[in-house]
Amino acid sequence: MTADFHLHTFLCRHAIGSPVDYARVAVEKGLREIGFADHNPMRVEFDDWRMSIDDLPRYIELVEQARETFPQLAIRLGLECDFIAGNERWIEELASMADWDFLIGSVHYIAPGWDVDNPKHVSRFHEMPVAEIWSMYWKAYEACIRSGLFDFVAHPDLPKKFGFRPDGDLRRFYEPSIAALAEKNIAFEINTAGLRKPIGEVYPALNFLKLARAANIPLLINSDAHEPNEVAADFGKADAIAREAGYSETARFEKRTRRLVAL
Ligand SMILES: [Zn+2]
Ligand SMILES: [Zn+2]
Repeated sequence: MTADFHLHTFLCRHAIGSPVDYARVAVEKGLREIGFADHNPMRVEFDDWRMSIDDLPRYIELVEQARETFPQLAIRLGLECDFIAGNERWIEELASMADWDFLIGSVHYIAPGWDVDNPKHVSRFHEMPVAEIWSMYWKAYEACIRSGLFDFVAHPDLPKKFGFRPDGDLRRFYEPSIAALAEKNIAFEINTAGLRKPIGEVYPALNFLKLARAANIPLLINSDAHEPNEVAADFGKADAIAREAGYSETARFEKRTRRLVAL
């Protein structure tokens, strides 16, 4: 009964494959439900790794075509939205532009022009204390959650991607976001893309998962696939980590309503 609610498409300009290609792999792997979540368009061109606003109708149409091609698969329509303080109105506008099943909130930008997971900025981890970079990220992540604009938030400890982590107990970074998730009743994901990156582990760390479980925060397990063969990648590992943290259910979304399904 596996689902994967974080799939990209060629329309975001750094992934390959159409919705129908991802759906085919999902069916082959025995999934019952998937969700597309391409990087959200901005009002005007913003960077080189997201969908153009002109492509939004095409995105919706391609997801619809995948639904028609694979009626045995539940295919949900979503977006992975960058949370950027001051840009909330645009997200609200986007939310009204389609019949979304879910919206994901993500933090990639921790300062203007600095997407923390972009390899072209990796040298910055040597130019300032890693703890400072993490503080910037987690402050933005908490604000993303508290905006209340999203159904779940993506890859919680993304700034570990290249292997840079502050010293000591990292729960000091996680706790404000866990509290915000609990207060706003918002879910989060285990994202297996981290296993395909230098850090070589899922987002988030086990200690984040344990805190989230204790606070009863709903969980999803997602691949963040950027090519069709990454659908449900490493779900066995993610499942084991979720269970280790005490989870026994995962969340799904339809028309922005959450339901829980046994792991
Ligand atoms: Zn991407
Ligand atoms: Zn992302």
